[in-house]
Amino acid sequence: MNRKERRALKKLTSDKAAKDLEESLGLFDLLPDNCSTCNKDFDKKSREMAFTWSVVVKKEEKTVRLFCPECMTKAQQVLKGATGTSPEEGSKGGQS
Ligand SMILES: [Zn+2]
Repeated sequence: MNRKERRALKKLTSDKAAKDLEESLGLFDLLPDNCSTCNKDFDKKSREMAFTWSVVVKKEEKTVRLFCPECMTKAQQVLKGATGTSPEEGSKGGQS
């Protein structure tokens, strides 16, 4: 999407909505077909799954991760047990 198109979008919608749209347009193709943790199949046509599964977008890395409800629960339990530490973020250093 170029600057001109983006400006046109902004006219039609609010700034935030245009940004969201732009982001989802660019990242929807990257949406995985299964859970990023346990590889459980995700049906993109299923509304129930769309509501219960979690999508995590990493704009910097241009990656989209998908987590099934079970893995979300597990992840939350892990986070509770180890507050303040994020092994994945820490090892990468945040530089591109
Ligand atoms: Zn899973």
